[in-house]
Amino acid sequence: MWTETEGRALIRQAASLVDLNLEEIPILSSLRRVLGEALLSPCDLPHWNHSTMDGYAVRAADLKLACSNSPILLKVKGTRLAGDCTTGNQADETSLENKETTIEIMTGAPMPQGFDSVVKIEDTELLTCKNEHFVRFHRSVSVGQNMRFKGDDMRKGQELLPRGTRISPKDFMVCAAAGVTQLKVYERPRVAIVTTGDELVPMDCQDLPPGAIRNSSLPYAVARLSEMGCDVVCTHHIKDDPEKFEELMQNIWDQRVHIALTTGGVSMGKADFVKESLIKMGTEIVFHKLAVRPGKPILFGKYDSCLVFGCPGNPVSTAVALEFFVQEAVNSLFKIEPLEYQLPLAKSVTKPKELTCLLRGRITPDGKIEAFSRQASADVCSFAMAQHWIVLEQGTDLVPAGQKVTVRSLQ
Ligand code: AMP
Ligand code: MG
Repeated sequence: MWTETEGRALIRQAASLVDLNLEEIPILSSLRRVLGEALLSPCDLPHWNHSTMDGYAVRAADLKLACSNSPILLKVKGTRLAGDCTTGNQADETSLENKETTIEIMTGAPMPQGFDSVVKIEDTELLTCKNEHFVRFHRSVSVGQNMRFKGDDMRKGQELLPRGTRISPKDFMVCAAAGVTQLKVYERPRVAIVTTGDELVPMDCQDLPPGAIRNSSLPYAVARLSEMGCDVVCTHHIKDDPEKFEELMQNIWDQRVHIALTTGGVSMGKADFVKESLIKMGTEIVFHKLAVRPGKPILFGKYDSCLVFGCPGNPVSTAVALEFFVQEAVNSLFKIEPLEYQLPLAKSVTKPKELTCLLRGRITPDGKIEAFSRQASADVCSFAMAQHWIVLEQGTDLVPAGQKVTVRSLQ
């Protein structure tokens, strides 16, 4: 039986043969989409040197000798508010016309030509004499004080967002500041979902027939795949009827989806027909079963260029399949890696040596990761309570407290 890591590598290999197209879309429609090429800045930011304080623009050379015993008085030549690019500009940038004068300046206002420093208002004293304003400075200043320079934040041509960025609200800020209105993103992988099971009824069924349970995996799978950046083009539920299943799958393949996902019917039970039907239809089975818990009976195959996942039926097994295996395919299509990090285990965990265990847990107040005691693959409550997936690799039957383990956020 393949290990979890080998299973993921096989999925990557198959998915690497599938290419997604790029599409150009408006920024405001790009939330959660994945950048298909790096975004380079079209401009410098700030666009010009500007003040970072409310105060006075000065020439540092004019205040060279200023000290508390011998302050220097400069005449105010005007006021610059943010957005004003003209007040105080000299006719000729190189002239000394502004020598021994100052310009009142507000935060964000472009620096007037010939001035090279800003003194904040709290460090000055304003004097008025015969309708003329003067400012007294008690200290010398250095060039560039309280200023931000053109290109300080970003330079034209600089990479603002790397390829593979999943666009989040914070990215809107940098795009807007740079005047970027369109982004080149990957098309969303098209996914079809088929849940199977005679016993399942829709989630909104209030009057459960005896023996029936609600289809809890379907809304989860739709939401999780959408969050991964996929376009769920169709969802179906069918009874455990191989003929109906085969008819439906043919229809799905005709829609040229990138991924077809089924739930249930892939274990060893009497009604577990999915693998046989897929083989009968010509699906190439890449693997069936991985050394993982939960989710061991997972199936992965290919039908032409469509990646086919048979997820085990219990809801948390389906969640494991989506998180660790279907997402591996989606990440590969987007050319990105999963987001994983390492945390020390809060309490030791015993596990079957031959299996990689994918457990639910949460972060303790002291920054460790704790696996829940309830881990059954049908337990939806402990799933809802969980904040993280914990990966305990095969090859050991005891993972001691304090050992660093791989963790992923659980959504
Ligand atoms: P199966 O793999 O089809 O034998 O399903 C294993 C267990 O998961 C059975 O108890 C099913 O009733 C349950 N199950 C299968 N599919 C779903 C689903 N979509 N939602 C909730 N439970 C399910
Ligand atoms: Mg079933």
